[in-house]
Amino acid sequence: MICLFGGTFDPVHEGHLAAARTAGRWLGARAVRMLLAARPGHRSQPAVSIEHRWQMLRIACEDDPVLVPDDFEVHGVRPSYTVETLERLRHDHPGEAFFWIMGGDAFADLGSWHRCDEVLDFCHLVLLQRPGRRSSSDEALRALLAERATGEVPDSPAGRILTIDASMPDISATAVRRKLAHGDEVAHLLPAGVLTYIRQHGLYA
Ligand code: ATP
Repeated sequence: MICLFGGTFDPVHEGHLAAARTAGRWLGARAVRMLLAARPGHRSQPAVSIEHRWQMLRIACEDDPVLVPDDFEVHGVRPSYTVETLERLRHDHPGEAFFWIMGGDAFADLGSWHRCDEVLDFCHLVLLQRPGRRSSSDEALRALLAERATGEVPDSPAGRILTIDASMPDISATAVRRKLAHGDEVAHLLPAGVLTYIRQHGLYA
């Protein structure tokens, strides 16, 4: 079983960590690989450098052996696309079950992903609802969900969609960046070490 949680982590926050831990527990995973989308191809570019986001991710994962920072997409020059990363990982682990963990908001955007029709060929999707975010209203995605939904952790390598019923903290990186820029309190939204790193380097000021 290979469990992946991808994000731009700009910065990594307690919502990411709660979602990854919850999904990891639910799947019975020994590790959840926190995969830094270094140069995201399908969204606006991050506010701080790859190096800063990577260091913050490493710090955030330090105290939890289940969360493993993964720099697979860091070493390259091209934009990173989830499907290409999955394709390359799949090549190295042909029969393994892959689980891609994400928020329901990210699933709602699946139609805009590069080669979106192929994503389920490479992995299962594991969805967590984010407070205050839309889940999919798109007809095609709702049909896909109905067709591929499963209530149990599948043994097969790919192709099913699991939805985890758990409440996640109402935190987004956008809100964290905004609060930091305004000098508002963010200590409850981020691991302490990440906040120290942000202050030391004057990020998001
Ligand atoms: P931004 O506000 O900049 O869009 P973000 O907080 O959504 O950032 P990302 O790095 O873009 O963070 O998200 C990576 C993944 O984490 C996505 O699958 C997203 O749905 C999920 N995620 C982020 N915050 C939460 C949360 N509070 N609860 C559950 N999932 C979350």
